[in-house]
Amino acid sequence: KGVASLPEAIDLSHHLSALARARSVSPLKNLARYYGRPGIISLAGGLPSPEYFPFDTVKADILSSDKFVSTPDSHGSSSGPLSWLLSLFSSESDSTIPISIPKYPSTPTDLNLATALQYGVARGIPQLQSTIVAFTTRVFQPAYADATVLLHVGNTDGWSKAVTTLCNPGEGVLVSDWTYPSALETMYPQGVRAVPVRMDGQGMSATGLREVLAGWDAAARGMPRPHVMYIVPVGQNPTGATMGAERKQEIYNICVEFDVIIVEDDPYYFLQEGPYVHPTQRFSTFKQTDMSDDQYLASLAPSFLKFDYQGRVVRLDTFSKTIAPGSRAGWFTCNPIFAERLERAAETSSQGPSGFTQVLIGKVLQTWQDKGYIQWLKGLGTEYTRRRNFFIDTLLAKFHLEVVPADSPHNLFPGTVRYIASAKGAYLDEKRGSGAAARKPLFSFVPPTSGMFIWLQLHLEDHPKFKDVAKESLEMQLWVKLAEGGLLIGPGNMFAADKTASTASYPGHFRISFSNADDADLVKAIDIFAAVITKFHQDV
Ligand code: PMP
Repeated sequence: KGVASLPEAIDLSHHLSALARARSVSPLKNLARYYGRPGIISLAGGLPSPEYFPFDTVKADILSSDKFVSTPDSHGSSSGPLSWLLSLFSSESDSTIPISIPKYPSTPTDLNLATALQYGVARGIPQLQSTIVAFTTRVFQPAYADATVLLHVGNTDGWSKAVTTLCNPGEGVLVSDWTYPSALETMYPQGVRAVPVRMDGQGMSATGLREVLAGWDAAARGMPRPHVMYIVPVGQNPTGATMGAERKQEIYNICVEFDVIIVEDDPYYFLQEGPYVHPTQRFSTFKQTDMSDDQYLASLAPSFLKFDYQGRVVRLDTFSKTIAPGSRAGWFTCNPIFAERLERAAETSSQGPSGFTQVLIGKVLQTWQDKGYIQWLKGLGTEYTRRRNFFIDTLLAKFHLEVVPADSPHNLFPGTVRYIASAKGAYLDEKRGSGAAARKPLFSFVPPTSGMFIWLQLHLEDHPKFKDVAKESLEMQLWVKLAEGGLLIGPGNMFAADKTASTASYPGHFRISFSNADDADLVKAIDIFAAVITKFHQDV
């Protein structure tokens, strides 16, 4: 629960779906709240005795928060791994610390297996829940008092539960033109359709949103005006766009005006990398790990929760990108009415993250404390910044890259820096003569300021087959050639919210992820990409 001086959430229960309204408390789960009462003898549930759990103690070696102290390194030069991260993964014995979770705790409130591996309440074990509540209040600062936290099994699960709780079949959800395909796949089988809103360099456009909502024609659209939005505001998947505070405020206000619930799916929140700076201008080696905790938290784009004085934001956080995807754990932050219905949904499905996950994540967070966890997040941000820089620096080395002038038709998003790439060297377009103007654009992109992805827009307009085949298939032809050449990337059409949009207006795209491959493989990947795309434009 939040700060007392803030307003309480307004009643938004009219947004609940018929399914959500029909749920009642699972009769057995209703008893669970009494289990913890001191002295109570429970013969009610089908609970196995913890004595028969074959785990006496769960032990693990975790990375030590002492190692998160940043050390000077070659970050500014864009290559060379960070020394602090290297030291983390060195085999020195002091680079890890042992943790241990016993079956029976010496103090009843300590994390323990007897409780965590038992049936429990769907909202999560109290020790993990309270740590997450404190973290959410400090970091995301909801603007209403009774923001409620409930664990889920990762954002995929969180979004799936949000859809069933908020949407009825036949309704539409506002999404960005380009969006995370799994989110759409969650909606479609439930009869919930995507309503695309145009984007710019910061993600969803506020003007675009207003146009869609204000001009809604239910008869023509065949559905009522959408009352739910799905948005990935930081390091958007696939475009990499990050939405600043001003845009979030504008979008929030529009959602208040049109009574829209915002579901904020924010897995990349802590992978904020800042603007890409050309290597020749990169004089500062300043990085996240050099900031104080408060400076660091203040430097991050705010969550929609920070503007949410009514309780109309359902925020989805996940440990997938900050601890590990296989942990399958995350949490909702939302108003208490929605939280209660989401908990009912969990009771008859996932229940909550596995007890093993909950004790292990709970223990890591207890061991690191806030200070250590925030240091870890700063370190992750620093690492992803290095990866982003390394990737774009390598593109710079392999292609002729220029910043698109503000008045160029290629500058799709005024106000954002867009790079346009052409083949390096003497490859010139005969039709246009020689010199700079003769450079044939191959692709362009806005350097991402967060997340794991770079979104390349293909410039196929000069391709000889441009007029003969749909551009989507030209994108796929190039994609197949890349795959055959040994490079797998995300074809843009996979991320289109409107699969029926005319391919005549379809610009080809690729989503490339710089999050996982090592530097040597990234260089090889860009080599393959350069060779294949250059040849693709030459071959007729
Ligand atoms: N939402 C978005 C936008 C994502 O990019 C991803 C991961 N690819 C997910 C959700 C999945 O998150 P989780 O592992 O928490 O289910």
